[in-house]
Amino acid sequence: MNLVSTYVIGAGVTGLSFAVTLGYGKVLESNPGLGGKASSYNMNTHVGKFTFDIGGHWFHHQNAPKVLQLLEGLSLEKHARQAFVYWEGGLYDFPLQQSYKTHADNSLVQQIDRELAALGQKEATKSQNYSDMLLNSYGPTLFERFFRDYNVKMFGVSDLSQIQIGKYEEIRNVRTNQKTEGYNSYFYYPKDPLGAQAIPVHLAKDVQVRFNSQVQSIHLNQRTISINKQTSPWETIISTIPLPRLVSMIADVDCGIAYLSQQLRASRGLILNLGVKRNLLHANKSWIYLAEMKYHFYRIGFYSNVQPDMAPEGYSSMYVECSPLFFKNKQEALYIVPQVIRDLISIGMIEDESDIVTLKPIYLEQNYCLPDNQVTSLIQSYLQQYGIYSIGRYGSWHWSSQHEDMQQAISLADELRRTINFRKLLKV
Ligand SMILES: Cc1cc2nc3c(=O)[nH]c(=O)nc-3n(C[C@H](O)[C@H](O)[C@H](O)COP(=O)(O)OP(=O)(O)OC[C@H]3O[C@@H](n4cnc5c(N)ncnc54)[C@H](O)[C@@H]3O)c2cc1C
Repeated sequence: MNLVSTYVIGAGVTGLSFAVTLGYGKVLESNPGLGGKASSYNMNTHVGKFTFDIGGHWFHHQNAPKVLQLLEGLSLEKHARQAFVYWEGGLYDFPLQQSYKTHADNSLVQQIDRELAALGQKEATKSQNYSDMLLNSYGPTLFERFFRDYNVKMFGVSDLSQIQIGKYEEIRNVRTNQKTEGYNSYFYYPKDPLGAQAIPVHLAKDVQVRFNSQVQSIHLNQRTISINKQTSPWETIISTIPLPRLVSMIADVDCGIAYLSQQLRASRGLILNLGVKRNLLHANKSWIYLAEMKYHFYRIGFYSNVQPDMAPEGYSSMYVECSPLFFKNKQEALYIVPQVIRDLISIGMIEDESDIVTLKPIYLEQNYCLPDNQVTSLIQSYLQQYGIYSIGRYGSWHWSSQHEDMQQAISLADELRRTINFRKLLKV
C-alpha cells in the first residue's frame, strides 16, 4: 500500500476516523465543511441563537475503547434516555413492550400479556424478514397496533416482508422475554456549543481535509481518480459515499456489478428542524415515537433538552423526522411541511404557527439503507480486488450508528497498517 496515493472520499465520521487512525490519507470532501450527516448549524434569530443537527445525533457507544481513544479530550456528557411513545392518544414510556401495561383497556393488556408470555416460552427462531422479526419479537397485537405502522412510516415501505434483516436491525429489536431497556438506555452528546459536529471537528484536528473536492470518476484499469476535473493516480481508495453512487462513478466497472448496485434501495428522509416557543409537553423528553398514519412523521426530538445551550431561554430546538411514505422526491417532501406543522399543532407540540421562530427542512436522498447483505458483499469484494474499500453506514449499505462506523474505519486502518508493516518486513 502506497500512502502517497491513498485517497479517503468523505470527511464524515467514518473517513476522518480512518485517516486519523492510519495517520495518513488525502481526505476529499465535496462540501465546504466537515461532518457529513453528523454536521450542525446555527440560526441567529430575534430571540437568540438556536443550534441544530441533522436529526438527533446521539452517541451510543458501548464497549468501544478504540473509538473513545479517538475522542480523548472531547467532553462527551452522559444522558439518561427520556424516550416516549405516543400511542392511542396517550404518552407511554419507551419501550412500549414494557409500558403497554398502563393502557386503560384491561382486556387489551391481558391479550398482549398472553402473547408475550407465549413468545417468551418459544425457542428463538431465525426470522425470515423484517416483518417476521417484529412479529416474533412483539406478538400480533403490538405488531398490528404499533410496530408495523411505525416501521412502515420510518422505512417508507408498505410491505415490511420485503425488507431483509441486517445485523443492526436484530440488535435493535430485543426479544421481549429478556427484560431490557433496549440498546440506548443512555447516550452521550458533546458538551460543546458546536453540537454533534464537535465529533468530526475533534477527529479532524490532525487530518488535512481538502474541502470542495468532488470525486467525479474512478478508472480501475488506468488507476486514475478525477477530482474537480483533475486526474491523479491512486493505489488505495477508502470510500464513505453511498455504495451505488461509488459504483456509478467507476468508468470501467463490470456491468453485472453496475446492475447489482442499482438494486440497492434506501429510504429517503426529511428532517424538519424547528426553533419554537417552549411548552410543558416538551419538558424532560429526549424523543417521542409516533406510529399513527394520520401524522406525517414517525419521531420528534428535542436537541435543547439534551444540551440547553442549543436554544434561547424559553424556547426549544427540535427536530421532526418526516415519513418518506408521503413523498418520492425533494419537491414532494417540501410540499408536506405545512401539513407536518398542522400535525404538530394537533398533538400540542406547538400551540400555533406563531410559536415557530425558525424552520429549516433538510432533504436526504438516503436515510435508512434497506440491507441486501448478499449484493453488498459481492460488490464490496469486487471493489476490494482493486484496492477500493467502501465503508460506513452508506458505504456498507446497512443501518449503523456513528460509533459503529468509526469502529469499522479503525479496524480497516489497523488491518491495512499491518499489511504495510508486513510488506516492509518482507521488503516487498
Ligand atoms: C437523520 C439521521 C439521524 C441519525 N441519528 C443518529 C444518532 O442519533 N446516533 C448515531 O450514532 N448515528 C446517527 N445517524 C447515523 C450517522 O449519521 C452515520 O452513522 C454517520 O454520520 C455516517 O458517517 P459517514 O462518514 O459514514 O457518512 P457521511 O456522514 O454520509 O459522510 C460522507 C461524506 O462524503 C462526502 N461526499 C459525498 N460524495 C462525495 C464526492 N463525490 N466527493 C467527495 N466527497 C463526497 C459527503 O459530503 C459527506 O461529507 C443518523 C443518520 C441520519 C441520516
